[in-house]
Amino acid sequence: MAKVLVIDDSPFIFKAVKKALEPHGFEVVDNAPNGQIGLEMYDKYSPDVITLDVTMPVMDGIETAKGLFGKNPNVKIVMLSAMGDDVLMNEAKGLGIKQFVSKPFKPEDLLQSVNSLLGS
Ligand SMILES: [Mg+2]
Repeated sequence: MAKVLVIDDSPFIFKAVKKALEPHGFEVVDNAPNGQIGLEMYDKYSPDVITLDVTMPVMDGIETAKGLFGKNPNVKIVMLSAMGDDVLMNEAKGLGIKQFVSKPFKPEDLLQSVNSLLGS
């Protein structure tokens, strides 16, 4: 069962990710409310896929992505962006993030992005 870690300061998004992916056999393991905790949880869970928020307290999505790529150059990240995140999104593309889903998202859009990262 593929494990998914949600790094997002909104508990609502965690619930929405769970709802979108768990019926399709994913295990959504935990919700890190900021990037710093996200990096710790990455070590704890070794998730197959991470959904990553852009704007968060303590450590934003860009710094978090740098940290994750530092731990694993092949880490699989879906960036969940909100309106107004355009500049940071371009930076994220430069870092090598390939999947982006804008919030609020449709469950099937998130599922498709996750599956495409996993090559299925
Ligand atoms: Mg946020």
